[in-house]
Amino acid sequence: MPELPDVEANAIELRAHALDREIARVALHDPQRLRGSNPADLEAALTGYAFEAVARHGKMLFVKVSCGWHLVVHFGMTGHLTRLDDGAREPAHCRLHLLFRDGGGLAFTDQRRLGWVELTDDPAHYLRSQDLGPDVLALEAETFARRIGGKRGQLKTALMDQSVVAGLGNVWADEVLFQTGLRPDVKAHEQKPEVLRTLHATIRKVLPVAAEHGADLARLPASFLTPQRGQEHPTCPNCGHALETPKIAGRTAYLCPVCQASR
Ligand SMILES: [Zn+2]
Repeated sequence: MPELPDVEANAIELRAHALDREIARVALHDPQRLRGSNPADLEAALTGYAFEAVARHGKMLFVKVSCGWHLVVHFGMTGHLTRLDDGAREPAHCRLHLLFRDGGGLAFTDQRRLGWVELTDDPAHYLRSQDLGPDVLALEAETFARRIGGKRGQLKTALMDQSVVAGLGNVWADEVLFQTGLRPDVKAHEQKPEVLRTLHATIRKVLPVAAEHGADLARLPASFLTPQRGQEHPTCPNCGHALETPKIAGRTAYLCPVCQASR
């Protein structure tokens, strides 16, 4: 499921290749992937205009259109934005295809069909309506420590709660806990503020690196835990010990019992 690094990687791609290009045609192949307005509204909001800026909050993107609207992108389980070169074939599972006047295009693909796009004229109001906490990368250390430390459940559960901080899911919560040396199943409110500030510093270090590598497992640094997910015998990239994979909050967690036992 796309988390902050995956969504930021999409944002990086859009900023590099999709801004200031006039949209000539809107092909919405799957009308159910549009919420809150009808296909004609989407067409009117995009056709003849261009994307001006891309902002991310947690796991969603706000793409500013030159007409004044913002296209909100929710990635669901399998959503992805793909740049298309002039004359390129439409990719599989393309739900929305935007064709630029200059010949290239942009495809929103979504195999599982749990993502969607939406129009808003007020991103701040839209965010308030979503019961979302602050973006985890936009938070200062003190605020992060106060919000996470105020939760009585397990630390990983608090990190994944989008109303507390927005952006982390199952995979990247495991990674930042691993790189901080914290077990996912310790209690959030029992962590000292300095420990939570260290976790915050790790998040600020790890997530941008992951986004720059396209959140692509094959390209992540060897010191990262995430590439071990899905291995037959996952081992700790730090000490070589076999990783444990308990269920925490109903999801499979990956952790090293040696490196994450110290606190
Ligand atoms: Zn280890």
